[in-house]
Amino acid sequence: RLALEAGLRHAIRDGQLELHYQPKVDLASGRVRSAEALLRWRHPQRGFVPPNVFIPIAEEGGLILSIGEWVLRQACAQMRAWLDSGMPPLRVSVNLSAKQFRHGDLTAVVCSALEDAQLQPGYLELELTESSIMHDAEASAATLQLLSTMGVHISIDDFGTGYSSLSYLWRLPLDKLKIDRSFVRELISNPDDVAIVKAIISLAHSLRLGVVAEGVETVEQLEHLRELGCDQYQGFYCSPAVPPDAFVDLIKRLRAETPALTEADMLRTQSRMYAYTP
Ligand code: C2E
Ligand code: MG
Ligand code: MG
Repeated sequence: RLALEAGLRHAIRDGQLELHYQPKVDLASGRVRSAEALLRWRHPQRGFVPPNVFIPIAEEGGLILSIGEWVLRQACAQMRAWLDSGMPPLRVSVNLSAKQFRHGDLTAVVCSALEDAQLQPGYLELELTESSIMHDAEASAATLQLLSTMGVHISIDDFGTGYSSLSYLWRLPLDKLKIDRSFVRELISNPDDVAIVKAIISLAHSLRLGVVAEGVETVEQLEHLRELGCDQYQGFYCSPAVPPDAFVDLIKRLRAETPALTEADMLRTQSRMYAYTP
């Protein structure tokens, strides 16, 4: 653990961190809506260290702030490079850790990353867990309102595994809920999971939010989710997270099968806050 923490301190400087991208796919049209940036650490001796191992270490040591900022900047810069190279418009989504979300600088860092990449805020989506948001719901609401008013999209990640105050859920300027992978895994064999997924989809739609299923691996899961009215999915069935070059190839291949999004399609948000801004 100590060795990993010491290694992490040099990881950014030594270029050992990379972002891989996983598509989020529209269930109705098959079109790719966005790309989730997932952090990879290519350790010189250990090979890839999974984020579930090093993110908690980075959180404890406080390194998560500089790593999180690197991720935001890198994801925005990547999207700018893709747009410049003629890739159809896509949104990039970035995971925020609780510490990063609570840090006073967050909106300034987000603004600066967008500005440096000359990216409209509508191209960026931030993923937060229920516990990061609900920990101090008042303060979170204020931060999320700032971000949402700018036009940044907000999703709740791993929805259903934490705890949420339903009254806050309604008041927060959210764009979508992401159904945790654990409920999708046994969707075909476990009626309890079907009930939970159904309930989350119905809750999301009642709050006029979009809903994304995580961890879709089979066509059976996909078809079941379609029947239940889910809007988007992510998972190995379409593709795991892949390096940027492979992502471009993947988009080209998928695009040959389905028409691309227009910019207006892509920038549309579910958030009520944004609708009120001039
Ligand atoms: P997450 O944000 O919920 O990301 C989804 C995880 O599920 C990813 O794991 C992804 O590779 C994996 N996954 C996607 N589709 C499938 C599937 O069909 N089957 C299975 N079995 N797994 C699937 P990954 O990349 O290992 O990331 C794990 C977690 O680490 C993420 O969960 C997120 O919480 C965290 N993480 C990753 N990158 C970052 C980052 O840049 N910053 C922060 N703060 N956390 C990050
Ligand atoms: Mg995520
Ligand atoms: Mg998740």
